[in-house]
Amino acid sequence: MAIYDSSRKRAASYDSHTHLNDDKLFHDVAAYVGRAHEFDVMQMNVVGYDALGNQRALEIAREYEGIQAVLGYQPEDSVDFDQAAQDKLAEQLKDDQVVGVGETGLDYHWDTPVDVQMAAFQTHLDLAKTLDLPVIIHNREAFQDVYDRLKASQIHRGVIHSFSGTPEQAQAFADLGFYIAFSGVVSFKKAPEVRAAAQALPHEQILVETDAPYLAPVPKRGQTNEPAFVAYVIDSLAETLSMTADEVADFTRKNAQRLFLNHD
Ligand SMILES: [Zn+2]
Repeated sequence: MAIYDSSRKRAASYDSHTHLNDDKLFHDVAAYVGRAHEFDVMQMNVVGYDALGNQRALEIAREYEGIQAVLGYQPEDSVDFDQAAQDKLAEQLKDDQVVGVGETGLDYHWDTPVDVQMAAFQTHLDLAKTLDLPVIIHNREAFQDVYDRLKASQIHRGVIHSFSGTPEQAQAFADLGFYIAFSGVVSFKKAPEVRAAAQALPHEQILVETDAPYLAPVPKRGQTNEPAFVAYVIDSLAETLSMTADEVADFTRKNAQRLFLNHD
């Protein structure tokens, strides 16, 4: 894979899921945003996961052009999603800077009680429906339960974030109307199924993301991830789809703008 040449101008891209609100990145947001711009990453969603993460996501979105906030409690932190936290979130979600609810979902890798996760997940789905916002789904080792819950809730607008399943699972979510977001996982040698999923999906339902500071793509694997590196995710996806990086940057940006900003 070619090393990204930031001197070459590319089509603008949209990192649909990043955590500039994480301690690892929050100390230097301006620098990370500047670097993202050098890599033609002109828009991004900063995604919340707990009370502090949500507050920071809002602050960042208010300060920077091209940055939107997504707010929620990730499954791991659903034990903290008590009534006061729910009321606060419902209030924050009405902010102009907010373009989605999440991340929420189910994670059976960690040992947060399933009933607690389920209750928090359902509350997020209800909020998304009431406020007519797309929902950002975190699914880890919980495909069937996530799928069943989305289907039963008749939610058809959202993203399966950092997709890491099979082509069949991707198609099942896509059939519900969900977008599938590919992170650095698509560049990992041991993820041929994820690449097969990308090849099988309609381009209109594909997004890219970093999930920074986690999951740095090849050739940055093992380093702290940052929004600029969505350029490498795009490189990898372009190779997977036999398209140019400009084409992939272009259609994934348009998809994100359609979903989050209601325009093409
Ligand atoms: Zn995330």
